[in-house]
Amino acid sequence: MARYTGAVCRLCRREGQKLHLKGDRCYTGKCALDRRPAQAPGQHGKGRKKMSEYGLQLREKQKARRYYGVLESQFAKYFDMAVTKKGVTGENLLQILESRLDNVVYRLGFAMSRAEARQLVSHRHFTVNGKPVNIPSYLLKAGDVVALKEKSRSSDKFKAVMEANGSRVPPKWLDLDRNAFQAKVVNLPAREDIDLPIEEHLIVELYSK
Ligand code: SF4
Repeated sequence: MARYTGAVCRLCRREGQKLHLKGDRCYTGKCALDRRPAQAPGQHGKGRKKMSEYGLQLREKQKARRYYGVLESQFAKYFDMAVTKKGVTGENLLQILESRLDNVVYRLGFAMSRAEARQLVSHRHFTVNGKPVNIPSYLLKAGDVVALKEKSRSSDKFKAVMEANGSRVPPKWLDLDRNAFQAKVVNLPAREDIDLPIEEHLIVELYSK
């Protein structure tokens, strides 16, 4: 399935929740969900009936996919990986999604949204353990060091983003050194370290059918 290229605020309205897909706009009064009550987009959005169990599971999976900007096939692959890992499958799934390089770049405040982080990684602005990596889906491990390339550090764009995100506190599993423009993955996140309102057990139920 191709990547969604339409208006991203529609996706938030569809899920009835802020997915923070648009960067700083999401934190201002301009957010579509702040201006209008949550309701699915389109002509029939208002009259939606109570959702079936399958519908709830499907929506939860779509919501998680949209938060992280992951395609259907890749998401299914992550689920398979989560099943083979030790521990709780749903939590493993979220941990894998969180460990993507684009997500980590966003969490560290080097980008205003995950979509922007994906683009910045593709444009080779970051290194992992000193080597350039341009794969947004690159999965980080404990001990990895993510850094903004030397050449990119003086760019006005990064200066502005870092300033705008100055008050954003990175999660405790990432040890950020703002002055060095780099961070170490202390450990992979546990469920309580992931602040997204996702009911991962519904996703596991969906894939277990
Ligand atoms: Fe979602 Fe951000 Fe658009 Fe608000 S502004 S609806 S949070 S993408």
